[in-house]
Amino acid sequence: MPNTDNTWTLADLYQWDTNGVSLAVVGHPVSHSLSPCMHNAALRMLAEDDCAYADWHYYKFDIAPEQLAEALPVFHDKGFRGLNLTVPHKVDVLTHGLAIPKDSRVTKIGAANTLKWSDQGYHAYNTDTFGMSRAIAETLYPGNEYPLNGKTIVLLGAGGAARAAAFRCLEEGCRELWIGNRNPERLATLVDALADSRVKTFAPAAAGGLDFGEAPLLINATSVGLKPEEGAPFSFSGRKEAWRVFDMIYNPSQTALLKDAKAHGLTCANGLPMLVWQGALALGIWIETTLAEAEAVAAPLASEMAAALPS
Ligand code: NDP
Repeated sequence: MPNTDNTWTLADLYQWDTNGVSLAVVGHPVSHSLSPCMHNAALRMLAEDDCAYADWHYYKFDIAPEQLAEALPVFHDKGFRGLNLTVPHKVDVLTHGLAIPKDSRVTKIGAANTLKWSDQGYHAYNTDTFGMSRAIAETLYPGNEYPLNGKTIVLLGAGGAARAAAFRCLEEGCRELWIGNRNPERLATLVDALADSRVKTFAPAAAGGLDFGEAPLLINATSVGLKPEEGAPFSFSGRKEAWRVFDMIYNPSQTALLKDAKAHGLTCANGLPMLVWQGALALGIWIETTLAEAEAVAAPLASEMAAALPS
């Protein structure tokens, strides 16, 4: 069996030869990914009840953007049952027609992070939407199955993660969705795609003068904060509202945004539980037949995955 700790390449993929069921995360760079650790722990748990899973293993492949179109048919020929796509492949896989969107929601989001093998090619799913919602429920609104419902939400960003977040906020029934992004053209493209009267926009530099209501939820879906020296993309100074704050970034675990939120006594969480829940639903999709069945098995998989992560 190939080593699940290795970072494999396209050249390795051509030589791939195993009787087991292979799964993988595909990204660039990818060597730091926590996904093999999470998924292999959940697969070991599944194998305790059903020995068919003893031969299932999850790997990581470093595939550059210009290699994706070549690599995906090889993954398919080699029988990889499922793939997770991470930076920078989530949008390209759809715009270049390299996988079949599972439903119109994936097409509307315009980004896919999970692929499932089929005779016709890979079917594309987006599990970041579910992952974000479950993570926000677990950390910020315990006991609330649909934590975005009825909320005023302030979303920072208009990239792939923000598109998935915006779509989920509207689908779950948020009251208002305020979106701010540095690049106004990218923001306008997202707003056009959402086509929903609950969506309002703002310029991040002008956020200080805006009234977002009494208890907004702030979601950071920008990459601001990934570098420890970066500042926060939003400031809570001078605000009286009871904000709850979700930062999709999980490394570093405390961004400048989360530090500022904590300093103002706000309830907040980082993106690690989102990583776990999107992974749990992806594994559910690979082992079950329907999306509803996959969602139904996600909770125990998520518990096992969370327990496996380095503290
Ligand atoms: P994209 O590259 O698609 O989008 C990046 C976003 O960040 C854009 O809105 C961009 O704005 C904004 N941005 C980048 N740099 C700056 C800056 N200096 N100032 C202001 N805005 C900036 O990335 P993704 O959407 O894929 O990912 C966004 C974040 O979400 C990442 O940190 C990623 O790690 C995290 N993420 C976490 C997940 C999890 O499971 N926890 C899952 C998915 C993503 P502009 O349009 O102006 O360039």
